[in-house]
Amino acid sequence: MIVLSAPSGGGKTTIAHALLRKDKNIVRSISCTTREPRKGEKNGKDYFFTTADQFKAMVRKKTFLEWAKVHRCFYGTPGHWVEGQLNKGKDVLFVIDVQGGKTIKHKVQDSVLIFVKPPSFKVLKERLLGRQSEDAKALKVRLKDALWETKEGKHYDYQVINDRLAEAVSLVLKIIQNERKKRLKTPL
Ligand code: 5GP
Repeated sequence: MIVLSAPSGGGKTTIAHALLRKDKNIVRSISCTTREPRKGEKNGKDYFFTTADQFKAMVRKKTFLEWAKVHRCFYGTPGHWVEGQLNKGKDVLFVIDVQGGKTIKHKVQDSVLIFVKPPSFKVLKERLLGRQSEDAKALKVRLKDALWETKEGKHYDYQVINDRLAEAVSLVLKIIQNERKKRLKTPL
């Protein structure tokens, strides 16, 4: 289980797409969220978009491996699908926030937590503004949250600075490959 976290605008989604293209043993977990879809996002591909009531019902039914309130919306990882993929020998990639990362590590100790950091707060702000996906109010919340998310990221197994995308992708791939080797060497 590989967790990829970053503050909003840190580049984790772009890195995740590159990982999926380059390594066919990695599959991405698709989360449920109560956030409104952004332009171009597809239900079932980027997220499963749900209402707050649907989400609450799923929490009650224990559908989620983990869930959290992030930037004032709810996000959760459906557990059933993950189990199936792990049984097939796949590496499951979770592109989730630091609260979710903490929960996953607590439940599955040998999961690998990778935190992606922008080179500076200034760059993060520029990237977030540049993608024009949030209104002013949501942007403010995400920038404020970026500070504590970065602090929490210090507890991750690895921290990767996303200055040049190609370098960050190859570093994350190397981490994953090394972790696979470690597991092969570990006696049962
Ligand atoms: P966004 O709204 O930008 O797609 O995602 C906002 C934040 O929620 C990001 O940090 C993203 O990684 C995180 N997130 C997405 N899905 C999940 C999930 O299932 N669980 C948790 N804990 N965080 C998630």
